[in-house]
Amino acid sequence: MKEPILVSACLLGLLSRYDGTSKHHPKVLRWLEQERLLPIPVCPEQLAGLSTPRERTQFLVGDGGAVIAGHGKVVTCAGQPMNAPFLRGARETLKIARLTGCRRALLKERSPSCGVREIHRGDEMVAGMGVTAALLAAAGIALQCEEDL
Ligand code: SF4
Repeated sequence: MKEPILVSACLLGLLSRYDGTSKHHPKVLRWLEQERLLPIPVCPEQLAGLSTPRERTQFLVGDGGAVIAGHGKVVTCAGQPMNAPFLRGARETLKIARLTGCRRALLKERSPSCGVREIHRGDEMVAGMGVTAALLAAAGIALQCEEDL
C-alpha cells in the first residue's frame, strides 16, 4: 500500500494560489510515483475559507512559529491582519494529516502558510516557516519542499 503524504495543492497543478494560478512542478509527480507515495492535496488557505483569488499575504512580524506562539503577525499587502484564518487553515490541514495517516508533507517553499525554510517578511526573504508548516512540524510531521527533490 502506498504511504500517504500531504502535498501543497498548488504543487500538484491545482489553481489554489492567491492569484488563481498553480505552481505545478513536473518533478513532484515523478517523485511521488518513484517513491510510491499517495499524495493528499491540501491548500491551507482555501481550507481556512479564504477565496481564490485572494489578497497576497506576508509576515509583518516573526514567522509561522511566532504566529502560533502568539507574537507573530501575518497580514495582507493592504495590512489586514490574517493570523486567525492562517491558524484555522493550519489546524484544518493537521486534521487532514491525522485523518489520512500522513506522517510527512511536501510543501511549497516561501509561502506564508506552506514555506518550510524561508518566508517573505516585508520586502525581504528570510529564514522561517509558514504557519501551517510550523504547526505540522510541531506535531511531528516530517517536512520537505519542492526544492529538496
Ligand atoms: Fe499552495 Fe500552500 Fe499557498 Fe495553498 S497555501 S496556494 S497550497 S502554497
